[in-house]
Amino acid sequence: MIRVSQPLVGEEELAKLSEVVMSGFVSPGRMVKDFEKKFADYCGAEYCVATNSGTAALHTALESLGLGEGDEVITTPFSFVSTGDAIRYCGAKPVFVDIDSRTYNINPELIEGAITDRAKAVLPVHLYGLPANMPEINRVAEKHGLRVVEDACQAHGAEIQGKRMGSLSDLACFSFYATKNMTTGKGGAVITNDKGLYEACKLFAHQGSSKKNEFVELGFNYGMSELSAAMGLAQLEKLDSFNEKRINNARVLTKGLKGFVKTPFVPEGFRHVFHQYVIQVDDREVFREKMRREGVQTLVHYPTPIHEQPSYNINEEFPVSEACSERVVSLPVHPGLSDDDLGKIVSAVISCLE
Ligand SMILES: *Cc1c(COP(=O)(O)O)cnc(C)c1O
Repeated sequence: MIRVSQPLVGEEELAKLSEVVMSGFVSPGRMVKDFEKKFADYCGAEYCVATNSGTAALHTALESLGLGEGDEVITTPFSFVSTGDAIRYCGAKPVFVDIDSRTYNINPELIEGAITDRAKAVLPVHLYGLPANMPEINRVAEKHGLRVVEDACQAHGAEIQGKRMGSLSDLACFSFYATKNMTTGKGGAVITNDKGLYEACKLFAHQGSSKKNEFVELGFNYGMSELSAAMGLAQLEKLDSFNEKRINNARVLTKGLKGFVKTPFVPEGFRHVFHQYVIQVDDREVFREKMRREGVQTLVHYPTPIHEQPSYNINEEFPVSEACSERVVSLPVHPGLSDDDLGKIVSAVISCLE
């Protein structure tokens, strides 16, 4: 079976992990600091707070803006549920705005219509590894005095006009879960250029403590572990080559599938890092079953938009998100695929469409 995701870990990760294990110092320390510095550098930003998940990173980033009861954050319903959950953790309300059917990302033209005087921030998601339209989002946010927090959990190394995700907003959040473009097993990070926000994030993610035995506010135990950071350092070295492989795999898939199905769209000047390679089909369950029989796994990201989840149950309509959620299918695009695998995926898709 050709799987949709396959973490590539090996000797380099093992070497870094054994460095930690053999040193006897397994509590968060040198590796975490080193990882924070290197990941901030990678994103083209000043500061990084490493966390134990992407969800924790989102909660930490939003909390650092002082969000609370009555505040609203504008976001997309077509994402992993954490995007909305993190807003709710702060006591704030997610205000959903529909997506652009070509990019699957929040439609910047619809943001202005959703802004009330309670709006405090916009939380775009770079879905599947394609950056949201940050220049437009930043323009609207600035006009209305809103902060911008990126959910970059699928977009490590993605760029707009050569600028990496993490360098184009107030705060950006990453995930290093096992299936992401780079992994620490589980993990996350908040990136910012603002020293004040950095200090606030650091405090919040470390139990509200800046000094041993002194807790100045109520925080969470969200810090990254030393072992995760060791994995992260080894994975970060490989991220560029992983992404190049993903981009190249996507190019091969699109070349083979164009004209047969709706293939991913990449706007001019955007670097899509293909966390997922997503097509659209009419009869999805039949298609997926046929693919399974051809030996190719497929997944659906995401079959239910956030506003329709039972934990939200918001009675509003977002027609583009709803239509996409019924038609999208993710094909394998990960860096472990061989040329043979890619050929097999293309012919399987073409034959399973019939
Ligand atoms: C993975 C992901 C998250 C959550 O990250 P975890 O590390 O699993 O907590 C949030 N948003 C998006 C878009 C994601 O893909």
